[in-house]
Amino acid sequence: MLTNPQRALRQKLSDWQRAGVTHVPHLEPSAPVSVPRKMELQTPEAPPTASVTASPPPSPPPKPSKSVASPELPVSPSKLTLTQREQELSTLAQTVANCTRCQELASTRTQTVFGVGNPKAQVMFIGEAPGADEDKQGEPFVGRAGQLMNKIIEACGWQRSDLYICNILRCRPPGNRNPTPEEAGNCREYLDGQIGIVDPEYIVCWGSVAAHNLLDETISIGKLRQKWFKYGRAKVLCTYHPSYLLRNPAAKKPVWEDMKFLLAEMGLEPPSA
Ligand code: SF4
Repeated sequence: MLTNPQRALRQKLSDWQRAGVTHVPHLEPSAPVSVPRKMELQTPEAPPTASVTASPPPSPPPKPSKSVASPELPVSPSKLTLTQREQELSTLAQTVANCTRCQELASTRTQTVFGVGNPKAQVMFIGEAPGADEDKQGEPFVGRAGQLMNKIIEACGWQRSDLYICNILRCRPPGNRNPTPEEAGNCREYLDGQIGIVDPEYIVCWGSVAAHNLLDETISIGKLRQKWFKYGRAKVLCTYHPSYLLRNPAAKKPVWEDMKFLLAEMGLEPPSA
């Protein structure tokens, strides 16, 4: 007596015969098929909206930062003594004094305006370019904007000589126009040289020209401020230029907030008035 599976098989063979199949090839038992590990691990993907687990929400993304390559120096900056830094800066300043890379600026300047301050400063200020007063005196930030900057420096509890102060350009653009990208590019080697020698922990970019050129950014200062960026090992903060504060006194408040932001990062507090 046939079992049910045998009856089903005989029926299937009869069907194949009627369909013209005369024989069935003998198949050797095949080796077990190995499944690639990747396939073993494949599981149906949950739809993106299916995540309803009780895990805590992801922590907020870190504050935006930007890493930019450090300028290369023959000697590791942190190993330079104060005297060596003074010598390196002096040598670079002599090179700058003879620079004629920007023909228009070199032919109209009274002198180059290299930079001043502590060769081992913890904080470096970078502005835009020398103005008429700076061009005459050979020092950055000595005009009206510079006097306002001095007040900001004092309010932070510092003296000007505690910091290192320089600009994106070392020559005055005629009529105080903005530096062209070509001029900023020409002078970048000198700026990077100064940053590499002084090796500050903090850099403050005063105004959009400084911020955009140093960080290769294009967005407004209003959106760059109150955030930390990186340039080499330095933490970089951007704020409004003192010249802008002279035209828009209301901007003094956000600048003071930015200075407090800097001091807090340094573990300092502004001196009480
Ligand atoms: S701005 Fe800089 S690169 Fe241009 S001429 Fe002056 S020192 Fe040279």
